Amino acid sequence: MSCVLEIQGLGKSYNSVDILKDFDLKLIRGEVLSILGPSGCGKSTLLRLIAGLEQPEEGSIRVEAEHGNTGKAFMIFQDFDQLFPWRTVLDNVIYPMGIRKIYSDKERNEAALEMLDMVEYKDSISKYPHQLSGGMKQKVALARALCLNPDLLLMDEPFASLDAQTRNSMQELLLRIWKRKGLTILFVTHDIYEALAISDRILVMGNKGEGIKTRMELEGAKPRNYGSPELMKLWKEIYELL
Ligand code: ADP
Repeated sequence: MSCVLEIQGLGKSYNSVDILKDFDLKLIRGEVLSILGPSGCGKSTLLRLIAGLEQPEEGSIRVEAEHGNTGKAFMIFQDFDQLFPWRTVLDNVIYPMGIRKIYSDKERNEAALEMLDMVEYKDSISKYPHQLSGGMKQKVALARALCLNPDLLLMDEPFASLDAQTRNSMQELLLRIWKRKGLTILFVTHDIYEALAISDRILVMGNKGEGIKTRMELEGAKPRNYGSPELMKLWKEIYELL
């Protein structure tokens, strides 16, 4: 199976405090991996490093496309301000394709409409972000990332600000898209249930500089049932580690 992400000996510090040290991680194409860990342990820093928004001090990060070429990793953030407030929904989705010179104008428009359909965005494409609910904004952000054909989707607590019901339906939607598009997802969350429901693997990080405390492989179809006794048992196991 092909590797999408390979991190070796990664090191990053801020103000001489080690945040990540000798950090290794591999992700196989098509995997959903969630990272849990105490606040400040370096989860967002790790995603920013993978996205190329920051540079590591040590080690290497490789994102691979299907035939061994350098791949693309795109990030979806928790806050809803990631959309341009002065652009319509459609323009928000089209804009990054233009910046990256992907497709012709006509194809960009078609790709944007196709991905908005895929994320089940049912509102007007002429609306502006301030006219949308939190869930709708996250759908638009997801459509925008999907248009760029990411090899790796980095999601930094993307559903943390949503109400419980919207959050559940967004988790289900994400998995439907994951299946259709064969996505590889690295997902950071504070919510143990969320990690257990949607992931193939979970990493639990220790405090800053401590690295990975536990790795967990999960069986069975996703999303998993929140109320099942097996999940409750795993929840307790992880809770005690955090
Ligand atoms: P997490 O996502 O696990 O909550 P972060 O990766 O956001 O943690 O942050 C890890 C640590 O690094 C925190 O102590 C945070 O204050 C610090 N940190 C993050 N970004 C910076 C920065 N740009 N400058 C200085 N310190 C930072």
